[in-house]
Amino acid sequence: MTRPNLPGPIEKLLHAATPEWFQRAACRDLGPELFYPTPRTKPSELRAAKQVCAECPVSEECLDYALDNREERGIWGGVSPESRKGRYWVGGTR
Ligand code: SF4
Repeated sequence: MTRPNLPGPIEKLLHAATPEWFQRAACRDLGPELFYPTPRTKPSELRAAKQVCAECPVSEECLDYALDNREERGIWGGVSPESRKGRYWVGGTR
């Protein structure tokens, strides 16, 4: 049996204990490509992903999850990996 493609953040959560907020994620029915920019990703595609996150009711929980788990890839809570690096554990804390 196959299951549909899930966005990167959601795909990853399926392999871990699924938090409650996952059920309300705006990206539940979208493909993972949108949330994992590559060097070939167009700025318009990046904006599209961030727009989904901007309207997501669980964006704070999503970003907290990414920071707590030191996610180095993907857009979580509307924040790119590059932008998250500035929020990681300066001196051991966020
Ligand atoms: S903030 Fe973005 S990546 Fe996170 S659950 Fe919502 S839509 Fe998905």
